Amino acid sequence: MSQPLTGRVAVITGASSGIGEAAAEHLAGLGARVAVLARRADRLTDLVARIEKDGGTAIAIAADVSDAAAVRAAADQVAGEFGGADLLFNNAGVMLPAPIDEVATGQWQQMIDTNIAGLMNVIGAFVPQLVKAAAERGVADLINTSSIGAQNPYANFAVYCASKAYVTQLSKQMRADLGPKNVRVAAIEPGFTTTELQSHVTDPGISEWLEGAKTQLEWLTPGDIAVTVGFIASLPARVNLQQLTVMPTGQT
Ligand code: NDP
Repeated sequence: MSQPLTGRVAVITGASSGIGEAAAEHLAGLGARVAVLARRADRLTDLVARIEKDGGTAIAIAADVSDAAAVRAAADQVAGEFGGADLLFNNAGVMLPAPIDEVATGQWQQMIDTNIAGLMNVIGAFVPQLVKAAAERGVADLINTSSIGAQNPYANFAVYCASKAYVTQLSKQMRADLGPKNVRVAAIEPGFTTTELQSHVTDPGISEWLEGAKTQLEWLTPGDIAVTVGFIASLPARVNLQQLTVMPTGQT
């Protein structure tokens, strides 16, 4: 039986865990062929095996989004194996909060390299495929993962939140270029979502604060965001959900 995304080709970055992993499984379940990209090849191989076991089609591409040449090679591989992408879930990211006056320049750079420069490398490599697909089939999707941090100030998260404000604003701006070419651009801004993201935090006080937040309210699951991605991509071609903030009900 035909599914909403049958015939479509999705690329998901940050697919080795959390939101990207859940999105890959969900989009494959909706009928898309999926290319899953992240650095941890073993996790991607397991994911591909699970998708194939469930009857889907997937390929794993181990790449670092901050490596522009590797991302371009990934785009060539998707073109070669699947004929090009018409759905890009640009989701890889890192969150390394610290008090701004600790001047953690290494962590600032890591967030800039991944959340901004890496995001741009992926856009640069795959937008031509999206534009081509939209011209051929009438619609394509570019969905970027931003954060509620793009909207609100949170102490200790300034650089992360600013990197996500870039993602939200870039998404809005790109619609002006890509909307007339039938490429829908969307930014999803999740609130607290239980993933590995928090496990990379090195500041003990902030880790404790995050652990406390888990006990005070029920966090989203990666699957909650995955269904949002599937929903956006399944809408009629005339409908572009530009920006979606998805919050745990208890998070204010
Ligand atoms: P995870 O840590 O579980 O997932 C992050 C993913 O990004 C992993 O697959 C990781 O894979 C990948 N990644 C990180 N750096 C790179 C890199 N340089 N090159 C390629 N892939 C990379 O966290 P989430 O699922 O939560 O994060 C997904 C997105 O959601 C991020 O952009 C995050 O900022 C955003 N977000 C998350 C929220 C939350 O509460 N969890 C809230 C708001 C936004 P690998 O290490 O294998 O490369």
